[in-house]
Amino acid sequence: MNRAYDVVIVGGGPAGSTAGYLLSKSGFKVLLIDKSTFPRHKLCGGCITDKTVKLLERVFGVTADDLKKNGVINFESSRYEIFCKDKLLSKRDSPAPFYFVERYIYDNFFLRKAQQAGTEVIEGERCTSFDISGSKVTTSTGRMFEAKVIIGADGFNSIVRQSFTGFDQRKWNENLAVALEIFVNRCDVKRQIDCPTLFFDFIEFGYAWIFPNKDRLTIGMCGLNKINRKTILRSFNNFLTAVGFRDLENLKSYGYYVPYGNFLLKPVYKNALLLGDAAGFADPLLGEGVFFSQRSAELASQVIMEAFENYKNAEGFHSYIETKYVDALQKNIYEELAYANKIRNVIFLYLSKFRYYPLKIAMDLFGDKAIEAIHGIRSYRWLRKLQ
Ligand SMILES: Cc1cc2nc3c(=O)[nH]c(=O)nc-3n(C[C@H](O)[C@H](O)[C@H](O)COP(=O)(O)OP(=O)(O)OC[C@H]3O[C@@H](n4cnc5c(N)ncnc54)[C@H](O)[C@@H]3O)c2cc1C
Repeated sequence: MNRAYDVVIVGGGPAGSTAGYLLSKSGFKVLLIDKSTFPRHKLCGGCITDKTVKLLERVFGVTADDLKKNGVINFESSRYEIFCKDKLLSKRDSPAPFYFVERYIYDNFFLRKAQQAGTEVIEGERCTSFDISGSKVTTSTGRMFEAKVIIGADGFNSIVRQSFTGFDQRKWNENLAVALEIFVNRCDVKRQIDCPTLFFDFIEFGYAWIFPNKDRLTIGMCGLNKINRKTILRSFNNFLTAVGFRDLENLKSYGYYVPYGNFLLKPVYKNALLLGDAAGFADPLLGEGVFFSQRSAELASQVIMEAFENYKNAEGFHSYIETKYVDALQKNIYEELAYANKIRNVIFLYLSKFRYYPLKIAMDLFGDKAIEAIHGIRSYRWLRKLQ
């Protein structure tokens, strides 16, 4: 048996590093284990919204300017465009900039912040099994670590989640999206894109995107897996041809899954909590997950700190974590995800029938309000202004 910790975090993406940072800064003994050695790649569009930048300032004390100086943010745009096939539906200035990052830089930056705050980090070692009741984590090298709390921040294929009694894989599969992406150096293409551009009608229950970066474009597509699993590659190639990137069809594409409305309503079991993709916390409308991974980490860390402060006996400790984490998610995350889900269904079930033309009308009618909801300035719920 190796040393015992207050908290063991499985996974060092944005969720794990945020929890590690906050808990270590408050004096807890934290171990974070990741199967990869950082900097590591993570398939992503790398689009960061205003609500994420505000969270980074609140949690880590770093501003957008700091992130630009450190090379974490490499591009920003205050404009966006939305198309249905090749027809422009909306082109507007955004009330706040969209920022773009390379995930290998972003994730490494925040993992090192956690390490500097005192989190002990083991890289390149996979966690292979959990004894939730006994509070033990075993890794691929056979090492075993004990902790009062286990955090599953191990992404979409979370094995911490799979060790939860009662986890329903079939229900989880119902609402997940399949995604494809290619990365193109700007110098290799004539068409240059300098603002986030979304394209509807190339895939059912999903959309395609071109996101700008300093040196390259990220071109991707995602859609509900149960409808698009077998056809997404064809849809993606049709999209590339239609937007003038036909010669990119042979470029290597990368695929992965995105939680797309399959968030868990109780991502906690005994002393183990799930954050970010492991719990399915991505916006069901656009698949934005970086914010929700870091926000869930912020909420979970607060609850864990309070539990350590107030409860010495295991029973009270566990039930406090369970009740308070679910409460915090209810107030801060679930409502937004549920309303984003409703809007998603209206767009893809009904507006798609009219070639998304009503979306153009809605965008004209609501002006900046819809984009403010994506940035977290407004709630998805009736587009009411947030504080
Ligand atoms: C194609 C695509 C495009 C996307 N675009 C965007 C976007 O533009 N903006 C946005 O906000 N979101 C986007 N997302 C979603 C976003 O990438 C995720 O929501 C986000 O990465 C979740 O962060 P996380 O920390 O929960 O998990 P992850 O970032 O997946 O990190 C999990 C970590 O756990 C580690 N791990 C996994 N299993 C184990 C194990 N057994 N033992 C030890 N370590 C383990 C992994 O190595 C990894 O480092 C996109 C997703 C996809 C697939």
